[in-house]
Amino acid sequence: MPAILDTAITIIGAGVIGLAIGEKISESFSNVFIIEKHPAFGRETSSRNSEVVHAGIYYPPGSLKAVLCVKGRKLLYEYCIKHDIPYNKCGKLIVATKQEEISIIKDIKETARDNGVDLEILEKDHVRALEPAVFALKALCSPETGIVDTHSLMKSFETRIVHNGGQIVYGSEVTGIRKLDKGYEIQLMDADGQEFCFSTGIVINSAGLYADRIAAMAGINDEKLSIHFCKGEYFRLNPPKNRLISRLIYPVPCHNLEGIGIHATIDLAGGVKLGPDVNYLDSNIQDYHVDVSKQEVFWRSAKKFLPFLSQDDISPELAGIRPKIQKKGDPVKDFYIMEESARGLKGFVNLIGMESPGLTSCLSIANYILELVINIE
Ligand SMILES: Cc1cc2nc3c(=O)[nH]c(=O)nc-3n(C[C@H](O)[C@H](O)[C@H](O)COP(=O)(O)OP(=O)(O)OC[C@H]3O[C@@H](n4cnc5c(N)ncnc54)[C@H](O)[C@@H]3O)c2cc1C
Repeated sequence: MPAILDTAITIIGAGVIGLAIGEKISESFSNVFIIEKHPAFGRETSSRNSEVVHAGIYYPPGSLKAVLCVKGRKLLYEYCIKHDIPYNKCGKLIVATKQEEISIIKDIKETARDNGVDLEILEKDHVRALEPAVFALKALCSPETGIVDTHSLMKSFETRIVHNGGQIVYGSEVTGIRKLDKGYEIQLMDADGQEFCFSTGIVINSAGLYADRIAAMAGINDEKLSIHFCKGEYFRLNPPKNRLISRLIYPVPCHNLEGIGIHATIDLAGGVKLGPDVNYLDSNIQDYHVDVSKQEVFWRSAKKFLPFLSQDDISPELAGIRPKIQKKGDPVKDFYIMEESARGLKGFVNLIGMESPGLTSCLSIANYILELVINIE
């Protein structure tokens, strides 16, 4: 295999995080490449999510998820304004529908405050005034939560990467990585099955669901970094009942944050999604099938706070897969973002377990990676 090109920095994966990193890094460095196996950006997790700009409420204070979410949310809104990306800072209500949930929302308010996020507890009448169709005994209101058009965001990153002189190579899959005296050799296979290789100084592994495989190609076989596919399915509210809410409505979450409960998310086109649920897959296969037989479970979950719903008001919508390093039943795990000099892989940067709030945090993650890259000696 002949070496056909040499790059300073190679980013593997053109999801929203890889693209955000590419956009940031190509402002400061020349010779930045992004390698993506699909023919276009965002064909995996980045186009199969709730598109929520999270405030940063639930994550353990001081964790990367908490810090990067809070910073990332502010940066994302600024970016949307500056670059004309559609968004709506619509706000979110976390609703207590049972007496025993009221103390939990008070705890959530405390955690959020430790993360620098101010929430207000609303009484029943106040909730009814804001969202007449929603049932709640009390609610936590998060005015900073919103939604964003992820496709437009990724398109904007792509345009700016090219404008900055970076290159995105679509339809090429990374199949091997070899450490060189200086840098790395990356092996690729294109859509026609042709193999290529090139050398690069720095590798940034932003391969989403396959980030553990990319790490393994470089020799990192760490059980703690194994990705467990965790599927989330959505149903949509059929018209006209999609018009009955104007904010994001969430139940009180379960204790280990495997998911944050089947919630109602509005989108920029006026639709409402219910979901995602949480279902660890037995094998890491991209199965995006939506199981129609879950309709009743979704309806029963949502009916607790959307009492106007009948079972036939909802239809299957889509599914996404979370790249979790948190095994089923384990406590919540943080993002793994690391420059791997300590493992003898100088200049190899891993991003593994980039589940929610990865979209919200994409710009703060990009800043974080830029700092890491600048500090590689
Ligand atoms: C159901 C669900 C709901 C979510 N909701 C939200 C939300 O509301 N708000 C929020 O902030 N976050 C949310 N998230 C999380 C968010 O979607 C992710 O954090 C984000 O999309 C991850 O982006 P990424 O670029 O890391 O990964 P991806 O979008 O998966 O991109 C990785 C890319 O790497 C490429 N790739 C992989 N292997 C190779 C290889 N060998 N060679 C070349 N290319 C390769 C893939 O093709 C892919 O395009 C949600 C996630 C899910 C699953």
